[in-house]
Amino acid sequence: TKRIFTFRRGAADRTADAAEALGLKGANLALLAALDLPVPPGFTVSTSAWRQVSAQSDMPAEVRAEISAAIKWLEEVTGRQFDGDCPLLLAIRTSARVPMPGLAETVLDLGLNDRTVERVAAELGDLSFAFRSYGRFIEAFSALVYNVDPADFEEIADDERQLRNWTGDEPRTLEEWRSLIARYLAFVEDEVGEALPQTPLEQLYRAIEACFATWRRPVARTFRLAHGIPENAGVAVTVHAMVFNERDEKSGTGRAISRDLSTGQPRLTGEFTPGARDRSQIGGDGKVLDLRALAHPDQRSLFPGDIEALADHVRRLEAHVGDAVEVTFMVGDSELVLLQSGVAKRTAPEAVRVAVRLVGEGLIDEEEAVLRIDPASLEQLLHPTIEHTDDLLPLGKGMPAAPGAATGEIVFSAEAAQAYAAEGRPVILVRTETFPEDIHGMHVADGVVTIRGGTTSHAAVVARGIGKPCVTGAGWLRINRAEGALYASERVLREGDWITIDGSTGEIIQGRASLRPPGLSGDFASLMDFADAARRMRVRTNAETPSEARAARAFGAEGIGLCRTEHMFFDGNRIQVMREMILATDEAGRRAALDRLLPMQRSDFVELFEIMAGQPVTIRLLDPPLHEFLPKGEGEIEDTARQLGIDRAVLCQRIIALKEMNPMLGHRGVRLAISYPEIVETQARAIFEAAIEAGARAGAAVVPEILLPLVSLRKEVDFVRKRIDQVAATVMAERGWKVDYLVGTMIELPRAAVQADTLAEAADFMSVGTNDLTQTVFGISRDDSANFLATYERQGILGRDPFQSVDVEGVGELIALAVEKARRTRPSIAMGVCGEQGGDPASIDFFERVGIDYVSCSPFRVPIARLAAAQSAI
Ligand code: PEP
Ligand code: MG
Repeated sequence: TKRIFTFRRGAADRTADAAEALGLKGANLALLAALDLPVPPGFTVSTSAWRQVSAQSDMPAEVRAEISAAIKWLEEVTGRQFDGDCPLLLAIRTSARVPMPGLAETVLDLGLNDRTVERVAAELGDLSFAFRSYGRFIEAFSALVYNVDPADFEEIADDERQLRNWTGDEPRTLEEWRSLIARYLAFVEDEVGEALPQTPLEQLYRAIEACFATWRRPVARTFRLAHGIPENAGVAVTVHAMVFNERDEKSGTGRAISRDLSTGQPRLTGEFTPGARDRSQIGGDGKVLDLRALAHPDQRSLFPGDIEALADHVRRLEAHVGDAVEVTFMVGDSELVLLQSGVAKRTAPEAVRVAVRLVGEGLIDEEEAVLRIDPASLEQLLHPTIEHTDDLLPLGKGMPAAPGAATGEIVFSAEAAQAYAAEGRPVILVRTETFPEDIHGMHVADGVVTIRGGTTSHAAVVARGIGKPCVTGAGWLRINRAEGALYASERVLREGDWITIDGSTGEIIQGRASLRPPGLSGDFASLMDFADAARRMRVRTNAETPSEARAARAFGAEGIGLCRTEHMFFDGNRIQVMREMILATDEAGRRAALDRLLPMQRSDFVELFEIMAGQPVTIRLLDPPLHEFLPKGEGEIEDTARQLGIDRAVLCQRIIALKEMNPMLGHRGVRLAISYPEIVETQARAIFEAAIEAGARAGAAVVPEILLPLVSLRKEVDFVRKRIDQVAATVMAERGWKVDYLVGTMIELPRAAVQADTLAEAADFMSVGTNDLTQTVFGISRDDSANFLATYERQGILGRDPFQSVDVEGVGELIALAVEKARRTRPSIAMGVCGEQGGDPASIDFFERVGIDYVSCSPFRVPIARLAAAQSAI
């Protein structure tokens, strides 16, 4: 097999897909060379050479012979010679397919020795440069090959400085330089018991061997283990002619990008660092220069190479790659070469902009654009902004640490954040700084403020990761935990007071601002259009409130896939009426309370139907165990007893009676409907009356979909369905108006999945509840899993939290079975997924494969789901 691959402008032994043999850098250089872009000539010693060399203690003779032949070739190409009058100097780099820590960095100026250093000095007319390079080569080579600490050379230099009374930082005369280098070499020999090779070929063999050996360093190995990179993948080494990019005003280094990522337009952007040591000579003060400015005619002279040519090179590379690219380039003696290339790194908004732009320019098609965007990254584009704050008091400005605006009640601990959030209250978590134990609080918070820290502190990094607005470094704020107070200069805010933050500007505002949903137009909308054209699955939303429903529509939801009616009972005085219903001791008492709930439910449903304007709306009957609605804690029990006019002791007794050992497996879901059919009757009546009212107003029929939770038996469906049908008939007769409706069942218990064929005889549609299904298939309580699932993930026992992303082999198998069996009974039955996984891209991919018709997820995940559904369909 071939072990060495040469490259030079216009010709490469191997190109493009060569990363496995040549590593990333080697493959890149080969690609650039093959595209006739300027690269320094050189060769890559491949991973197959690594395999051979690592198997033996000395570099095998045939590998040496091949390297030496490659040097002959390079000598011819460059017109220079190893150890000759016109010395060939080399740069050596490891080149792994995936960059990893621990691998050797770079050895520059290999080929320098006591003879060539003086020839280079003469050739360049620059004694200091040549010797400085030689000194650095000795340091780098000794560090790599002999493990010598570079600081030792510092000491020698300090010593020489004093001994010889140098006038500056480094030697000036030839004598001084020779003396310093001689001491370096003597030190190495002393230290390692052998002389640093003076023969360039020997230097090269040793450097390559040492580069190969860095593959075995423990850090590299740990990295490979963590990232699943096979141990025998190996590493290559690239060798190319030196470019003196740090010598004079005719040299420098930079990074060029083919587009302006902020607009998506094709244009040379990036930066350039001039190579001269005395930077004042070239007008800069050591600062990095902007390539955009340098491309301007009156600044062009500040760039030592041909900037037009650079622009042309990145354009050609972009056309080849079909995406915005970036390159690392060097200029030596005004000659420009490219050293590395890749697709340009970009933020989520930039990625969307560029992809849409590329479609517009005909470089890629719409499906390709869809595939290029990571669905999860859209999260960053979906944040609201502050609408107006005229009537609110600004509290000050910290660091903009994670984008988006949020408004909520102040809490000072993760626990408080969770407690408030559990009641559906939006919160802003305010901390002096955050630690890993605060993450669960950050997850439920709408926004985060920290007094310390900057844009890379823990809070900032975590907040960006989970897409929460965050302001850090709010140093003028003081938290007094004991008082539960936040001091902001002369103002005092308490836990539960409202504040608004803007994580894009750093602003913190007292009070509750109204937020404008994110701008979903322009490139974002175009990308979503591409996605919609490509996907098969529909995307609905889980929503109960009008604002959620409206946000979801703006995000492109195609209906409501789950309206959890219980969430509608926590508001204001509704909870009291609900409690009245629960505490009633007979059916008459329950009916009296339900009659008061009926108009509230009806108006909620009318509003949802109107917002969704003809899109399907799935309303689920009451699901949770009743005790969830009952008062907790002494104070609340006291208040409730007073308000309902019942004896405190009676209330306590009733609470105890409703208490269950395993409420999630207890008296909930369809079981409530069977125990208390009057609940079903009221909810069904509210739904039908609302459908008639909304339908009459809109002049178009509303077809409600009624969903039964926690079903496992066909007869449960029959029982409830019969009540619903009766109510429908009654309401239609009363109003003289016909309503079409569907009755469906959740598939969220294993028995339901297994019996989906029999359930399908009685159900018009089905919706998979992956939260309860995961809970019951695994037997893992969804409310207690946090205590141990993190350990499972850390120990590698579970890859991902199965509540977030579908467990394909277990839960997934049951879902596939349910779809298949249900369709055996009713081939066209609609099958949806409305659990948390409905918004998870990896799960969506699975749902596409098993033939799910639609997913339903929280409003903010709707665009993510649309994109993920499209990707899985392409
Ligand atoms: C589910 O169990 O997946 C579901 C959607 O219902 P809930 O989360 O309300 O139990
Ligand atoms: Mg459920």
